[in-house]
Amino acid sequence: MRHPLVMGNWKLNGSKHMVNELIAGLRHELSDVDGCDVAIAPPFIYLDQAKQAISDSHIALGAQNVDINLSGAFTGETSANMLKDIGAKYVIIGHSERRTYHKESDELIAEKFAVLKEAGLIPVLCIGETEAENAAGQTQAVCARQLDAVLKTMGAPALKGSVIAYEPVWAIGTGKSATPAQAQAVHKFIRDHIAKHDADVAAKIIIQYGGSVNDSNAAELFSQPDIDGALVGGASLKADAFAIIVKAA
Ligand code: PGA
Repeated sequence: MRHPLVMGNWKLNGSKHMVNELIAGLRHELSDVDGCDVAIAPPFIYLDQAKQAISDSHIALGAQNVDINLSGAFTGETSANMLKDIGAKYVIIGHSERRTYHKESDELIAEKFAVLKEAGLIPVLCIGETEAENAAGQTQAVCARQLDAVLKTMGAPALKGSVIAYEPVWAIGTGKSATPAQAQAVHKFIRDHIAKHDADVAAKIIIQYGGSVNDSNAAELFSQPDIDGALVGGASLKADAFAIIVKAA
């Protein structure tokens, strides 16, 4: 039995005031939640503040990125050990916004996966096809390629305890979620692909869906057998909407 994970990806949103307000709202709304893991991923600069604000709650801390280097002359970067040090549990890697705007390659993302495992952090590996790739029938090929970059360098056992987030790029921030059936088909493909390497890891791995998840479509998405929670962008910025999504899981 897999335990779903609902994680809020705040992206480039927030302020000191908003962090306190939103977390206070989440603590209130989620005080009686059971059976679902919950995490928030605020911008780096608010991670420590958020960590204080979630203390003694069952909300865990995530980060939105990591550098592959551990220390040294890498201006502007944040290392896995630093994220571990401030109390992060999860780290999102391979988000399509980073693949697109920061030209992150499958190979770089596999390296990030490796440094997170080494530091004892949980990678949330985002994969998914663009609209053009979807239209060209390449969804499975793209997801397989993005997974294989990690499988090749790390081997399937490294996926144990990690999280995959299937996020079709065309569904992110567009209000146009994949249908539950569409998402389920890809989630099953991802699980079967991992199972070719390691059936036990595949059966246990958390595969989140992401892309325009909101308070009205979450329950139907989560009713699918291979969808284990969600990575939520826009709707994670409102405590009441995020809480409904968590409760749906
Ligand atoms: P969205 O973003 O929920 O706003 O579509 C999801 C994500 O990018 O993780």
